[in-house]
Amino acid sequence: MAPTSAQPSSAASLPENLQHVRDEIAAAARAGGRDASAVTLVAVSKGHDAAEAAQAIAAGQRVFGENRVQEAQAKWPSLRETHGDLELHLIGPLQTNKAREAVALFDVIQSLDRARLAEALAGEMAKQNKRPNLFVQVNSGEEVQKAGVLPAEAVAFVRWCRGDKNLPVVGLMCIPPVDEEPALHFALLRELAQEAGVTQLSMGMSADYPLAVRLGATHVRVGTAIFGERHYPPKD
Ligand SMILES: *Cc1c(COP(=O)(O)O)cnc(C)c1O
Repeated sequence: MAPTSAQPSSAASLPENLQHVRDEIAAAARAGGRDASAVTLVAVSKGHDAAEAAQAIAAGQRVFGENRVQEAQAKWPSLRETHGDLELHLIGPLQTNKAREAVALFDVIQSLDRARLAEALAGEMAKQNKRPNLFVQVNSGEEVQKAGVLPAEAVAFVRWCRGDKNLPVVGLMCIPPVDEEPALHFALLRELAQEAGVTQLSMGMSADYPLAVRLGATHVRVGTAIFGERHYPPKD
């Protein structure tokens, strides 16, 4: 299970939480023989308002994740006006009819999970002349309720996206089943990425990001450990 040191302390302030997460990432990188600068912390601000996001920006955080296009549209354009160097990742499921907004708003889309979405994103990228980097989401636990391509189809799907659709797929993303040992899923994701010829691995959340870093994550998506409990029940 996750080390207790990865858990947020509710008494701590947001800047303290953020520093704690950064320290944990650095320690895990060292333990895994990796360079901490190879790991990007994506601060997941879903369920928290613009004022809370601004606190994280003030504490030096620049990379953020949101799981819904509409919520991100309401929060980020104004923050971006004052901070031109922010990087925004979409980490939640994307409907084809929101591809236009997603390409316009996000710098990275981590939830590419089907051919029809790939087609829609390719069309929008051409239209808008903007190419956010993409991660293919892998349903590593083969859960019926979860988005993502099946592990057995992941390599062919990545090759098709990059080759046939000329999409900028840079890596793989997964959300392991809550009740399983995440290490097996992280290891599987790394193997699939190697086989598919992509280098980026988005894996690890508040409960398990140090483990993910030890196992090769280049991106960890951490919400609760930085911002505390969300103001609405999570919808993912
Ligand atoms: C909400 C969310 C996270 C962050 O979860 P925490 O447990 O709060 O760190 C990470 N990844 C995805 C895809 C999410 O939807």
